[in-house]
Amino acid sequence: MHTIKGQGVCGGVAFGRLELLKKASKLIQRSHVEDTDKEWERFENARAKASAQLKELYEKALNEVGEENAMIFDIHQMMLEDQDYLDSVKANIWEQKLNAESAVGITADNFADMFASMDDSYMQARAADVRDISERIISILTDSSNTGIKSDTPVIVGAEDLAPSETVQLDKSKILAFVTEKGSSNSHTSILARTMNIPAVIGADGIMDDKNGGADIIVDGFTGYIYVNPDMQTVLEMQKKKDKSEAQKALLAKLRGVKPVTKDGQQILLYANIGSNEDMPAVYANDAMGVGLFRSEFIYLESKTYPTEDEQFAIYKSAAQKALGKRVIIRTLDIGADKQVDYFEMPKEENPAMGVRAIRICLTRPEIFKTQLRALYRASAFGKIAIMFPMITSVSEVRKIKEICAEVRKELEAEGIPFNKNTELGIMVETPAAAVISDKLAEEVDFFSIGTNDLTQYTLAVDRQNAAADAFCDTHHPAVLRLIKTVVDNSHKHGIWTGICGELAGDMSLTELFLAMGVDELSVSPGLILPLKQKVLETNVSEIKEKLLSELE
Ligand code: PEP
Ligand code: MG
Repeated sequence: MHTIKGQGVCGGVAFGRLELLKKASKLIQRSHVEDTDKEWERFENARAKASAQLKELYEKALNEVGEENAMIFDIHQMMLEDQDYLDSVKANIWEQKLNAESAVGITADNFADMFASMDDSYMQARAADVRDISERIISILTDSSNTGIKSDTPVIVGAEDLAPSETVQLDKSKILAFVTEKGSSNSHTSILARTMNIPAVIGADGIMDDKNGGADIIVDGFTGYIYVNPDMQTVLEMQKKKDKSEAQKALLAKLRGVKPVTKDGQQILLYANIGSNEDMPAVYANDAMGVGLFRSEFIYLESKTYPTEDEQFAIYKSAAQKALGKRVIIRTLDIGADKQVDYFEMPKEENPAMGVRAIRICLTRPEIFKTQLRALYRASAFGKIAIMFPMITSVSEVRKIKEICAEVRKELEAEGIPFNKNTELGIMVETPAAAVISDKLAEEVDFFSIGTNDLTQYTLAVDRQNAAADAFCDTHHPAVLRLIKTVVDNSHKHGIWTGICGELAGDMSLTELFLAMGVDELSVSPGLILPLKQKVLETNVSEIKEKLLSELE
């Protein structure tokens, strides 16, 4: 057995024989031509054919994976018209007197290298696209399409970099998993793999070695490990993992579309926590009713400088559209403490968890805050966006935030930019101060979401980053549970709703208690939604309510 480690981009475990798909460009014969006009004509004919194929692929992808994923084939058609690309092919044919397939191959290498060396991860991912369109032209010129699976039985597909068009063309009934040597988690191949829900690993260096072709392998899309010719112990361990993940899938099939309602009819919303738009497919796959926490600070963490209003708008708009009318609660940036961003140039703090973090940065640097709010409000015209503010400790903070929101709305109105005037505004209750004055705060906002990670840290005086203090962190401490109940009661008294988006929301030993308290929403990582739904369906609140609540007194 030998092991290859890549990056898992779609969870699941697959066992099977590896079939390696070699690219047409690997088979190019380089030759010199005399009749350059004729060679250019060959290229132009191939390009027209490629364009027609892409049109067909667009229609196919539209039916199979939806408009957003199909868009890539539209973009590929446009890339076929790119003047710089055409000039480069022309120069290689007319000046270097190369045959058309070599001219395209050289152009593809140069353009892909140029994209790959760019700082922007989106542009880097475009290297695969330029290779993809070039492969298509070369396949037509050499009359050799290598994109099909040769085996009659299902296989694990190995490729250097599986292009989106290849992914869509493959007969899905024959694919157990994807493994590629190159690729990025941002690439369309990864996105498509996730949409198709097939285990996938990228960056699997060495998988294309000829000696791996035809080998029995196991792909673990959760960890990114690939076991080639696995030994018996690995087979047994991975079989267990596969069984577990299939059981989860069966659970999904059973509970999909079922409303989370207790036996005695109490309803609760089950939402998903996400870190980026890339997590949206997992939101659907797990049947989340909305997004309860979109941690927008990851946009700032992944950027080398302040993300612009337009950059943020594109991300929030896409999230709003992908949610298809479901609520998407986007938390404004929660920088500081464990999430440091160099370009913010924040002074070093002795105790950053209690320092100038999250909303405190936003209120002291309103220009950064306003940029994000403008992007959020603009996106509100495209779906059900709700805005949530982290690390609140006082009523005056919330009033200041609302003033800034009103300013932003006024500006947008004056500029004639559409937005939803009724965009819900909520706060995270994650400091003991906010929990204690939640009766006052409830008069100011539309909803609460309890951040139990920070609420526990601040209530128990246990640094959440300090593993040595873990022993003192009793996540079921009555002080934390009582504060949660106080917040829920105060919100209901003032006619607003309360959710929980900290990790405690997914602690199933507390689900009954949260239902007894009347928590309105639980927001958890997507994979926990269905097990949590199961728990809700099994619960009879009236049977346990009195006992559980009296234990808190
Ligand atoms: C929390 O504090 O519970 C929370 C959800 O926010 P974060 O973990 O991002 O601080
Ligand atoms: Mg927090």
